[in-house]
Amino acid sequence: KILCLLYLLSIFCFSHAQNENTYLEQNIDSTLSGMTIREKAGQLNQLDGRGTIENLKILIRKGEIGSVMNVTEPEVVNELQEIACKQSRTGIPLVFTRDVVHGFKTMLPIPLGQAATFHPELIQEGARIAAIEATEHGVKWSFAPMIDISRDARWGRIAESFGEDTYLTEQMAIAVVNGFQGDDLSNPQSMAACAKHFIGYGAVEGGRDYNSTHIPERQLRDVYLPPFEKAVKANCSSIMTSFNDNDGIPATGNKKLLKDILRKEWNFDGVVVSDWGSVTEMIKHGFAEDRKDAARKAIEAGLDMDMSSKAFIQNIEELIAKGIVSEETLNNAVRNVLRLKFRLGLFDNPYTDINKRKETYSDKHLAIAKKIAEESVVLLKNESHTLPLSSEIKSILIVGPLSDAPHDQLGTWTMDGETERTQTPVKALREMYGDKVKIHFVKGLEYSRDKNKTNFNKVLAEAHQADAIIAFIGEEAILSGEAHCLADIKLQGAQSELIKILSGTNKPLITVIMAGRPLIINEEVSLSDAVLYAWHPGTMGGNALADILFGKVTPGGKLPVTFPKATGQIPIYYNHTNTGRPATGKEKPLDEIPLNAKQSVLGHSSYYLDLGAQPLFPFGYGLSYTSFEYSDLKTDRAVLTLKDTLSISVKVKNTGQYKGTEVVQLYVSDLFGSVTRPVKELKGFKKIELSPNEEKMVIFELPLYELGFWNIDMKKEVEPGKFKIRIGTDSQSGPETFFEVK
Ligand code: BGC
Repeated sequence: KILCLLYLLSIFCFSHAQNENTYLEQNIDSTLSGMTIREKAGQLNQLDGRGTIENLKILIRKGEIGSVMNVTEPEVVNELQEIACKQSRTGIPLVFTRDVVHGFKTMLPIPLGQAATFHPELIQEGARIAAIEATEHGVKWSFAPMIDISRDARWGRIAESFGEDTYLTEQMAIAVVNGFQGDDLSNPQSMAACAKHFIGYGAVEGGRDYNSTHIPERQLRDVYLPPFEKAVKANCSSIMTSFNDNDGIPATGNKKLLKDILRKEWNFDGVVVSDWGSVTEMIKHGFAEDRKDAARKAIEAGLDMDMSSKAFIQNIEELIAKGIVSEETLNNAVRNVLRLKFRLGLFDNPYTDINKRKETYSDKHLAIAKKIAEESVVLLKNESHTLPLSSEIKSILIVGPLSDAPHDQLGTWTMDGETERTQTPVKALREMYGDKVKIHFVKGLEYSRDKNKTNFNKVLAEAHQADAIIAFIGEEAILSGEAHCLADIKLQGAQSELIKILSGTNKPLITVIMAGRPLIINEEVSLSDAVLYAWHPGTMGGNALADILFGKVTPGGKLPVTFPKATGQIPIYYNHTNTGRPATGKEKPLDEIPLNAKQSVLGHSSYYLDLGAQPLFPFGYGLSYTSFEYSDLKTDRAVLTLKDTLSISVKVKNTGQYKGTEVVQLYVSDLFGSVTRPVKELKGFKKIELSPNEEKMVIFELPLYELGFWNIDMKKEVEPGKFKIRIGTDSQSGPETFFEVK
């Protein structure tokens, strides 16, 4: 009986959803049927609303704009919306967009920092508060999450990404989409997500922004596409094409990508929007002859909305009149845009409630921002338990360019974040712990690129007086983000010298690094007693760090990217494919090669003479104030068939003195395949909290289809054979076991 009821219920739900869909499509068609070709092209036209809006108003009245970017005053949003709804012939509402990349007003840590939390549920909450604040300001569509796999820290946009790993990026992508969109997209507090940049943008040559990529199809499908597929499955409303060409085809004109993969393979029915001007950039790529050709190539490839280039609105009528582009092609693009507007509920509820800016900066939002900042911080070194600061420390010196830099600690894409709200470390430490310790503050360097050392004497004098030194160094916000790439990812200015002189004082030296990317910090790590990597931690970064330094919070963040020892080691990432001559770790470093050696005295393996093969810190790395022990790794079966789910368990024990969280990481190696496989791949993680001496069995259920890859026949399959499992505290340690798939 129960089965019968469940069956009937599922039929009811299915047919209800079907009806809703049919109703939606009927609405779309009836709206479409009343539109002229120009009005249709207008729906595909997205323009910037910054600066004077008088011209914009004229275009809106004529029905020549479908979406407006970057207007965040609800009064202006409503004014423009009213023109669209009441004064344009079609009355179709506009959709307002913004890059809400890591928070709106309450700034969260940059996405790379968010990834370091390994805590998708928390990141979903962060995205939700961003949506609440953005929608209070009229924004209904965010150009985020950015889910480009990024394995090159020279690329400034690595800050906006979730790092180098496909699985971690997938989990974060789903979290952000769910957070932005909520259960119901038509809820006034929900906004549409946009997974970007489709595709491969993180792999631009040499880490130079806007450059070309050369990603072969197998790697594209195994590494770069999956986060987008997961976002689409999570009902992500839109996808943005990338600036780069891959293998000679600019993404904005790539039919295989936009039609075959996105629409046909994944059944995507949302909007595909170009990146800023990327339609007409196809001319500079030498892929389109002129603006008309660019418009034709883009719309025929499957692009729906033209961000800011105006090529669609200027050329589509003529392309259709001459029969070069079919009206059906245009209609399909317009349908996708209208579908988004219906789903957002804009036809019923186009305006923003002006009296409702209440939740922005609410205590709840600030608390979530603080929690994410806390969990994003990675402890890289903690010699002799330097941290947390002991109660014997009565005075500290705070020093360094990032110690009180309210703008810089917010990081890239903080157009709406207000620096007056930023809790810097100096401010937070004084407010929160000023009664426990004496706090001296000398900045030493004004900003991260500062080379002026005239204040170093003063710094030293103060350092000698203090019981401990906390140096906040790193990168100004301007050094990472779009178009802000570096050929050398070293510390800028005189920061390294600052650390050197501080370490000479023999006082406990704690270095806190705030940056938009991994930096080369070998020396600073070896000269410091403790090192925290805090990324750009956002509005509440100072409070989060203060609680970590004083031990109220135990750090538990893990690196979402491999840290190289030198820029020349890039690209370096943990899940590279197997080579025929992997490094053994026994290779001789350069200075051990006899000066008179005439021929190789080394093994012939894949490594650098001057750096070896190992990174400074591996993917997944991060210490805690406490310690964890892994044991009893077991699988429920040794031999499985393709349809099975493998159950894996491991015991984790807190063997230290503090309560702490641990990210238990599951890596799988497919030992033999029809094509070369990655040495290992992250296939699961769980964040657990343990008190001293507490132990927990952590269980992973791994459906074997998760081990599928694009094989020699370009089919996604799991191939039978032997697999290795490793579970540990990072990508390089922990117990191992094997299983076989028959
Ligand atoms: C960036 C996008 C962004 C867009 C709109 C472009 O330059 O590449 O990521 O969404 O501008 O601001």
